[in-house]
Amino acid sequence: MGENANTFRVLPGVRPGLGDRVTRVGDDAGGGKDAAQERSADLNARLEELQELLYAEGRQKVLIVFQALDAGGKDGTIRRVFDGLNPQGVSVASFKAPTDEELAHDFLWRVHRHAPGAGHMTLFNRSHYEDVLVVKVEGLAPADTVERRYGHIAAFEQLLVDEGTTVLKFFLHISRAEQKERFQGRRDDPDRNWKFNPGDLDVRARWDDYMDAYEEAIGRTSTADAPWYVIPADRKWYRDLVISEILVDALEGLDMSYPPAPSGIDEIEIPD
Ligand code: AMP
Ligand code: MG
Repeated sequence: MGENANTFRVLPGVRPGLGDRVTRVGDDAGGGKDAAQERSADLNARLEELQELLYAEGRQKVLIVFQALDAGGKDGTIRRVFDGLNPQGVSVASFKAPTDEELAHDFLWRVHRHAPGAGHMTLFNRSHYEDVLVVKVEGLAPADTVERRYGHIAAFEQLLVDEGTTVLKFFLHISRAEQKERFQGRRDDPDRNWKFNPGDLDVRARWDDYMDAYEEAIGRTSTADAPWYVIPADRKWYRDLVISEILVDALEGLDMSYPPAPSGIDEIEIPD
């Protein structure tokens, strides 16, 4: 396994210690911005090949979960790291506040139907983790209901793994200062105003509660089979590099191959 995968993975049964983890790396991290972006471009090309192989082989499934606070970079990561992949084999599922119909069911009901099928890769922009994050902080469900959900989440993800899904979970870890800067950008730039939701400031006001909820969620659900990675995410070029490296590593480890050619293909002649 690559160096970054080891550095940022949260070991099973261990608290991530978010307060002690880096959010903003130095200018020379990953060889510096220019080198990091070059390397990310190479990794993106490799990711494209691996996804093509995943699709062609049609056997394995890949689920990638992205969680972060507002302005944490979920949208940007999805746009940049997966740029150029074949849309036929990749889907994104974004989870918003549940509808009445979704609320009438168990919390995994709306999630399970988006789990990837054979040969597919699915990216979750937010996920079932919201049900132990915002729901916990805002008290949207009774405490004992939330408490039981950690076990349900672990069992659900193990089910996916047991049935052939590779599960990778990324927490994009930004600092309070970086969030302020990004909110300011959204407020000031007319082209980005649409991304500024005044309600996000209420969430920002509860920063410490959210950090505690993430600490709990990540600490209780990072397993050998469905690991969490805490990514220093203040610098976008470093975030993209590290996530790309971890994904390429994981996909290379799947030992995929193209399906065999139809028998007798050498004898077939294509008529004029
Ligand atoms: P965004 O990702 O910025 O479009 O915002 C989506 C919003 O939906 C966020 O404020 C989330 O906290 C909220 N959300 C997502 N899932 C849930 C959930 N299960 N319960 C309550 N709110 C949720
Ligand atoms: Mg938002």
